[in-house]
Amino acid sequence: MTLTDEKLAPIFADLVNRNQGEVEFHQALNEVLSSLGRVIGKHPDYAEKGLIERICEPERQIMFRVPWVDDAGQVQINRGFRVEFNSALGPFKGGLRFHPSVTLGIVKFLGFEQVFKNALTGMPIGGGKGGADFDPKGRSEMEVMRFCQSYMTELYRHIGEYTDVPAGDIGVGQREIGFMFGQYKRITNRYESGVLTGKGLTWGGSRVRKEATGYGAVYFIREMLKSRGEDFAGKRVVVSGSGNVAIYAMEKAAEFGGKVVACSDSDGVIYDEGGIDLELLKEIKEVRRGRVEKYVALRGNGAHFVKNGCIWDAECDIAIPAATQNELTGRDARALVKNGVVAVGEGANMPCTPEAVRVFMDANILFGPGKATNAGGVATSALEMQQNASRDSWTFEKTEDRLAAIMIAIHDRCASTADEYGLPGNYVAGANIAGFLRVAEAMDALGVV
Ligand code: GLU
Repeated sequence: MTLTDEKLAPIFADLVNRNQGEVEFHQALNEVLSSLGRVIGKHPDYAEKGLIERICEPERQIMFRVPWVDDAGQVQINRGFRVEFNSALGPFKGGLRFHPSVTLGIVKFLGFEQVFKNALTGMPIGGGKGGADFDPKGRSEMEVMRFCQSYMTELYRHIGEYTDVPAGDIGVGQREIGFMFGQYKRITNRYESGVLTGKGLTWGGSRVRKEATGYGAVYFIREMLKSRGEDFAGKRVVVSGSGNVAIYAMEKAAEFGGKVVACSDSDGVIYDEGGIDLELLKEIKEVRRGRVEKYVALRGNGAHFVKNGCIWDAECDIAIPAATQNELTGRDARALVKNGVVAVGEGANMPCTPEAVRVFMDANILFGPGKATNAGGVATSALEMQQNASRDSWTFEKTEDRLAAIMIAIHDRCASTADEYGLPGNYVAGANIAGFLRVAEAMDALGVV
């Protein structure tokens, strides 16, 4: 990874040096800094005031032991994290990821992305991220509950409605948020609804939050397609993953007339030329917490499963990587381009490698970066905070209308910023620059803090 800008290259080299071994964080830093050369040209004072170095340094990083007892009576130890990255625009905001791959470097990359993503939503939220190297796979509900309670027993002292507001991410859904909210309420003796988002509807949650990241991604892709006079109707859509983001991206893509033919999990890929049956998939994933392979036997009409298959070899017009970071490589991107893909929207955080992004850009494929495309989830979290603050609860229609308007605004902001900086159609640069400018302006106004 090299940066050529003479002001930014030494900053990046220094960041790599002082965050050693954190390769995903370096990748996220490199991607944003690569877009900022033109910004410094227009705003030299931002560089002089050290705003670039400051925005790349988390305000606070918390790491803690999470001890718990499994069903066999064995003591288990995990590591918990919360990186409070930037609070210039509002309380730290961002999800918690429970996955064995979670390290400080992963949480820092996610927290850094979140700062710009949250800024793009136009809402008053700073950026942060957290999680643990806990693997929920194969754990009983009681084990998950004990883990969540132990995790919150430390985390509670760092968060609050006006301080830091976590939500879900990989491995953390409504069930886990419920266990954590219950523990927070018990420890603090406060029914502080606004301390966590992604809550259930009967205990302070917002309609559309569950669907928001996937729906939002498809709204964003629809706007990109519109810019070239196209739409979803009749297009073949492939979505990697089968979690919350993937399921609701598929649902909205189908509603817009797309034909969703494949999705996946870490075991393999399911293909269904008849169009993925989403009610069946939801039953398998959300109710039974099962693996996608089950879909084939239950569907039974020509759907098939390829163990360890590569979903990006499937022919499609629209690709939505919605599983995890660096899941779509340069090779995969070339396969997609060869097969005629017209648009790619990142549903996950940083799912495309830098080489893959370059392949899409060089081929003039519409490419929506995650910090813009998947911002609908956190934007709806901010709507949940709004409803909590006013002790109100909106209808599905009103909430979805707000989400759609936010996604259109994000798209337009990215597109117009890219135009303004002489890079028309470059949503990566548009998102990085627009996000940076909003945070930098607020940081500048708040002084050296
Ligand atoms: N984890 C989600 C994200 O990557 C949502 C965060 C939130 O709602 O705070 O944006």
